[in-house]
Amino acid sequence: MNNKCIHLKYRTKKGQRYLYCSLKKSAVTYDFCRECTDKEYKQYKPIRKRTYKQAKREKRRFSIIYPYLDKCCVCGAKTGIILHECIYGRNRQNSIKYGLVIPLCVNCHTGTNGVHNNYELDSYYHKLAQCKWEQVYGDRYEFIKVFGKSWL
Ligand SMILES: [Zn+2]
Ligand SMILES: [Zn+2]
Repeated sequence: MNNKCIHLKYRTKKGQRYLYCSLKKSAVTYDFCRECTDKEYKQYKPIRKRTYKQAKREKRRFSIIYPYLDKCCVCGAKTGIILHECIYGRNRQNSIKYGLVIPLCVNCHTGTNGVHNNYELDSYYHKLAQCKWEQVYGDRYEFIKVFGKSWL
């Protein structure tokens, strides 16, 4: 029963089940509850906690590479911006965590010469991200400990 008022309880007295309203502090009937204007419903979380946490992290993405995320960092375009994690794949969550994200337009992201199709550009941003990480968080040894390898 999903639309049950949160104040409505089932109680048993001398083997008899009855309805009790914890707001009115008295026994009530279904009809009374249905007409009651103080009815309140339990709030259900729409998404599971873990995905919610992840969604929140994705929404709060920040960059230690480029402070402004509303403009393509390659060509300066201001529309169709996609946030690209410089170190993606199995390190995507690490990249998000440490702010190794850059703003790219669709073209510079997945276009013919976009970072996902251009090895040199891709490698340039891996290196740039690592450089910035080492400036902000720690040395190379620590970078490798987190990301599993070095691009420099
Ligand atoms: Zn661009
Ligand atoms: Zn990407």
